[in-house]
Amino acid sequence: MYPPLSPFSTGLRCRCPRCGEAPIFSGLLTLRPTCPACGLDYAAIDAGDGPAVFVILILGFLVVGLALWLELKYEPPFWLHMVLWTPLILGGSIGMLRPFKATLVALQYRHKASSDIELLKE
Ligand SMILES: [Zn+2]
Repeated sequence: MYPPLSPFSTGLRCRCPRCGEAPIFSGLLTLRPTCPACGLDYAAIDAGDGPAVFVILILGFLVVGLALWLELKYEPPFWLHMVLWTPLILGGSIGMLRPFKATLVALQYRHKASSDIELLKE
């Protein structure tokens, strides 16, 4: 029996939603088959396109807002927009995907939101 952990705490640290100990990713965004610490089977957990949607909406809002502000305030040349926003978009989206996916996985585990609910029982 494991005490309930905050999905946001384990998600932002990219740790197992049940034990909070082991990392859930084996690659950049690839989930391990099971938790090496507690043995939780991740097969029933699938965040789908959820993390990408959140990253697109949040990062898109930030970058478009900043680009509009910069353009209206300073009217910089186009190449400066490319130099500023391209690394921010690439780095921001790759950096945000892991914690967002881990948080959605943790929320799915916490609320037992799976078609194969038996796999999520403790
Ligand atoms: Zn675990």
